[in-house]
Amino acid sequence: MLKLNQLSQQSRSKIKKGLLILPLVLIAIVVLSHNKDERKFVPLNIETSSAAVADDADAKVTHLVSVSVPTYSYTIKNGDSLSVIFSKLGISYKSLLSIMEEDLNHLSLDTLRPGNRLLFWINEQSGVLEKMQLKFNPADIVQYSRVEHGGYAFKDISIKGQWDTSALVGSVHGSFSKSAHKLGLSINEIRTITTLMKDKLNFTRDLRAGDKFSVVHKVQSVDGVETGSREIEAVKIFNRGRTISAFLHTDGQFYDENGESLQRAFMRYPEENHYVTSPFNPNRRHPVTGRLSPHNGTDFRAPVGTPVMATGDGKVIMIRNHPYAGKYVVLEHGSIYKTRYLHLSRILVKKGQQVKRGQRIALSGATGRITGPHLHYELLIRNRPVNPMTANIPMAESVPKNEMAKFATRRDNLIQMMKEEEVLLASQHHSQNNKPQESL
Ligand SMILES: [Zn+2]
Repeated sequence: MLKLNQLSQQSRSKIKKGLLILPLVLIAIVVLSHNKDERKFVPLNIETSSAAVADDADAKVTHLVSVSVPTYSYTIKNGDSLSVIFSKLGISYKSLLSIMEEDLNHLSLDTLRPGNRLLFWINEQSGVLEKMQLKFNPADIVQYSRVEHGGYAFKDISIKGQWDTSALVGSVHGSFSKSAHKLGLSINEIRTITTLMKDKLNFTRDLRAGDKFSVVHKVQSVDGVETGSREIEAVKIFNRGRTISAFLHTDGQFYDENGESLQRAFMRYPEENHYVTSPFNPNRRHPVTGRLSPHNGTDFRAPVGTPVMATGDGKVIMIRNHPYAGKYVVLEHGSIYKTRYLHLSRILVKKGQQVKRGQRIALSGATGRITGPHLHYELLIRNRPVNPMTANIPMAESVPKNEMAKFATRRDNLIQMMKEEEVLLASQHHSQNNKPQESL
């Protein structure tokens, strides 16, 4: 018995040693290739996120055998760096730079979060990266595929998925956040509601236990799997004999029952001169390659040091220094809108900071790879760039007169949805309370 035990322990330690050697060899290869290429690493670290991080089994590089499927699949972890991932997979640093150059018009790489997946297709003969996909969730996917003369072409291959609209009815027990979470609302949805109504309701002081609230939201799924994308359409909170409500209009802004805005309107321009040097153009062609190279923002003439203003109330969600886009800031305005300000010389805000419309957030500059100083300004609706000069953004404090009929129809439909759910819930309560008592 004793001998057998010793034997099995020996073989186990042999296996362990073998397992230890493998990563050492890999590290050596990586280190050697560093020295050979004298690679410079781009500080493109993927930030820590509160979002769910993929399980351990997914968090390592998986080598896939079949040709029709990607050569590698990698799930982003906290603190990952793209240049390290590329290096580990033996993909040239030049390929990463080419992809980043193409990504200048989209900045999708910068939005990678832990749990997102990278898929790589590598040519077995040449070892060249043929295609890379960023899979943010089952619906949102972008792709960079190699083109003939070198370089990569960007393509958004996101799918619509299925959006289900439903009404939820709950009541406050403990904090509003806790009660809403229990009802099935996500952290983002709860934040949308509390930010929207902060001027009308003090969530910690005004709410009483038992106060009712109703919500209509849209939830996206692909093949029955939720993607994490959700959108609040309507909210009603009953508090001390009054009803506070919010309805999402087609302009992406929330209004109360009478069509008065709950959010401050946007400004059209992020700086004072309004002199456009290059307009938004989704069909722009690269002057040399002739390939589609969309201009997803509006360029303003701005000497270095020109004050840059937030075009709406919002929160700073990203500050970056990109080799091609330069120093830039991203603001989030509610759940629908984002704005981006590129090529800055100085950034005057911090990540996580709340900003007001018109607040100076930066000074313009000429950072990144550009020919002269200017401000590149982008407006994104549901993460898709739109023309900031012509988009139907909320500019007024109430629903415009000519849109009021449309707003009212939508509002009434949403109220009806919530009412039906409230009635259903009340009848369930009623039947529960009136159950025939069993005699003892
Ligand atoms: Zn531009």
